[in-house]
Amino acid sequence: MSTITETTVIGHWIDGAHRASTSGRTAPVHNPATGEVTAHVALADQAEIDEAIASAQRGFEVWSRYSIAKRQAVLFTFRELLNARKRELAEIITAEHGKVLSDAVGEILRGQEVVELATGFPHLVKGAYSENVSTGIDVYSIKQPLGVVGIVSPFNFPAMVPLWFFPVAIAAGNSVVLKPSEKDPSAALWLARLWREAGLPDGVFTVLQGDKLAVDGLLTDPVVQSVSFVGSTPIAQYIYETASKNGKRVQALGGAKNHMLVLPDADLDLVADQAVNAGYGAAGERCMAISVVLAVEPVADELIAKITERIGRLRIGDGAGADGVEPDMGPLITAQHREKVSGYVDIAEADGATIVVDGRAFSVEGREDGFFFGPTLIDNVPTTSRAYREEIFGPVLEIVRVKTFQEGVDLINSGAFGNGTAIFTNDGGAARRFQHEIQVGMIGINVPIPVPVAYHSFGGWKASLFGDAKAYGVHGFDFFTREKAVTSRWLDPATHGGIDLGFPQN
Ligand code: NAD
Repeated sequence: MSTITETTVIGHWIDGAHRASTSGRTAPVHNPATGEVTAHVALADQAEIDEAIASAQRGFEVWSRYSIAKRQAVLFTFRELLNARKRELAEIITAEHGKVLSDAVGEILRGQEVVELATGFPHLVKGAYSENVSTGIDVYSIKQPLGVVGIVSPFNFPAMVPLWFFPVAIAAGNSVVLKPSEKDPSAALWLARLWREAGLPDGVFTVLQGDKLAVDGLLTDPVVQSVSFVGSTPIAQYIYETASKNGKRVQALGGAKNHMLVLPDADLDLVADQAVNAGYGAAGERCMAISVVLAVEPVADELIAKITERIGRLRIGDGAGADGVEPDMGPLITAQHREKVSGYVDIAEADGATIVVDGRAFSVEGREDGFFFGPTLIDNVPTTSRAYREEIFGPVLEIVRVKTFQEGVDLINSGAFGNGTAIFTNDGGAARRFQHEIQVGMIGINVPIPVPVAYHSFGGWKASLFGDAKAYGVHGFDFFTREKAVTSRWLDPATHGGIDLGFPQN
């Protein structure tokens, strides 16, 4: 936390407008490429939390009465505006997160897929009807919105992760209170403005800036019906337990440690390309990044040589580009996070691993105060090391050498996380066995970052997802609606059954 300076204070979005905060609490927002504090973000106090939730409740009362056709029209407009103006949003993301511009556009497009899915929501929220289940009796089900729903998002996808949830929630008739990461809070406000332009009534999309206090407000306020969280595992578990204790629906997606299993028959040039893309893209700050390459011997030496050569060709710099040239990789999110990532490389080294490419002392000329960390490659990482078992969330690729396919599968299955994994092979039988035996929620077969398209659902297993509801797709619509079953009889003298105290039977 810091005191307010003359730099901008990024506020909330309440009742369809930007709302300056009066809490007196703020946190700094940096440009990670320069290290400069570019703004401060408001941290809500209890009065602001209450105001945001009350506004969302009023928004819900209006929006949930909109016809399906009217809701659909707003969603279509939002999709068109987002598509037309994505470059503006990408620039905001790059300025606060640091990822390269094309990657920022990429996250918007993956989020836009969910808006496109949501435009077809009438098909996903329609109920079922069974006529004449017993003489003269019909049963039907209807899906209704929950009310005010909370979304708490991480720093690494300031647009895409909120977009995993809010198009579905809004399409289904709910109103949303989004608590973005305090590290890159501006994308959420931009999205809020876009909703207003698209014709969404005030109060249906609210942005509440803040820290733990704001999150706890969403977890405990009785008006909030559900919480969708994405972030680190310890916080995901806290969110799951606290929201459940308060009687809310909750989906809480946590951290990851994604492995790529490379069989000896794989095309090693393809593997090296994909390992570099998936390991170092967005500086490794993706929940679906590959962080461990399990090389089934004898391929490790050759693969390491190919990856090392490719690392040498990577351009690292300001994600916004310089002189019209965009780098491959930008900085990490904060100086503290860079220290954390560096600390994990120290741990690996102390535990006996071989540092093949060392990014710890890396800096970018002219951007010496930026939070850069060079691509790092570590071989022979002991599987007992904390550097292997814990999530690093930086541009660090670890190689673990295994003797067999089974040893690789067992290692993946023994980990705490179960978000994503990939196998690289030309052996269909091995790939099929892998998909059957692996204890992970999302699997790539010769695909390194298997983020499912919007009409499937996103979510890991084990410590990567608390709760049973994944994001978007059919899971998303089930999460954001509740079903009501109606058993109805229109009295007809011929079928009136008279008095019968027995349990209803057909
Ligand atoms: P984080 O857990 O620090 O923060 C996530 C959100 O929780 C933020 O909005 C933050 O303000 C809030 N928060 C932080 N501490 C809190 C507390 N004590 N009580 C209540 N709320 C709190 O995560 P992050 O650093 O922003 O994001 C990176 C993490 O997110 C990584 O672990 C990454 O794997 C994970 N992630 C997972 C997925 C997935 O789909 N499984 C996707 C993206 C990111």
